[in-house]
Amino acid sequence: ERLIAADATREDDAVEASIRPRSLDEYLGQQAVREQLKIYIEAARGRGEALDHVLIFGPPGLGKTTLSHVIANELGVNLRVTSGPVIEKAGDLAALLTNLQPNDVLFVDEIHRLSPVVEEVLYPAMEDYQIDIMIGEGPAARSIKLDLPPFTLVGATTRAGLLTAPLRDRFGIVQRLEFYSVEELTKIVRRSARILGIDCEPAGAGEIARRARGTPRIANRLLRRVRDYAQVRAGGHIDEPTAAAALAMLKIDPEGFDDLDRRMLGTIIEAFDGGPVGVESLAAALSEERGTLEDVIEPYLIQQGFLVRTARGRMATNKAYRHLGLEPKAGNRE
Ligand code: ADP
Repeated sequence: ERLIAADATREDDAVEASIRPRSLDEYLGQQAVREQLKIYIEAARGRGEALDHVLIFGPPGLGKTTLSHVIANELGVNLRVTSGPVIEKAGDLAALLTNLQPNDVLFVDEIHRLSPVVEEVLYPAMEDYQIDIMIGEGPAARSIKLDLPPFTLVGATTRAGLLTAPLRDRFGIVQRLEFYSVEELTKIVRRSARILGIDCEPAGAGEIARRARGTPRIANRLLRRVRDYAQVRAGGHIDEPTAAAALAMLKIDPEGFDDLDRRMLGTIIEAFDGGPVGVESLAAALSEERGTLEDVIEPYLIQQGFLVRTARGRMATNKAYRHLGLEPKAGNRE
């Protein structure tokens, strides 16, 4: 288990209920997204209509699921949660849709993993609140049209490019979540500490935030691990040195990188002379899956300027060389 994995663990899920923001005001950071949604939600509420369908994309752990809860709460409607791979048959989707109350929100995580057959059913549902379902089999089979209550589909995906064009085009509202700043993550850590009754100084929260890779889920998880350390070594009080010592023990460096990040940068530099190297070769050299590199490891390294993606592959920047204590390459990208 990677401590800084952005995907949810069982332990994350267990504390989720208490720390997950419920309103737009509690949803920290992502200011542009919040401001726009506030207006769209207020307008839809004012008209008594369902909110337009919303597509949220961004790396794992940035708050896509949370935002769907917030949207439903702010609209004052129910939320149904499912995910692309769980909806196996057209009938599964039909059952979900016909059980919604007017203006409810249906959240579909990993929406890019819907099967083509299910996607086909979704199009008229999104567009006209109607579905065509087949009754019977063979020559006696016939299709009937069912009216659905108006509803809002909130779809989440890690990269917008994974969606088929017809599906993407049916979302009226498209929001991209960005990595959080250290200041925003500090606020998130302080809020979680308050809710969980953890004694954490602002500077201690800042140290955790700096190493949390711009990701609230990781920040909350690191807070819990630092709490354990502080309880045993520092009388339960988290200040900056305690947080730094705890994170060093966990092998999370000051950039928030763990062994896997350092191994990826180190492999590009040492085995491929800094790149460019194709993602397939890199995945093979690291014995990791290509999707893991693309969705989990590299977005943060790229965003922080340690890695660049070129037409010919990934390249380590001089920032990466220096981070690993190596001499930068002459003429290389900074
Ligand atoms: P995703 O669905 O994008 O993988 P989640 O919505 O499950 O991410 O969020 C992961 C964790 O981060 C949750 O514990 C949630 O409480 C917290 N979180 C996410 N976004 C925010 C935010 N804007 N403000 C405060 N906490 C957040």
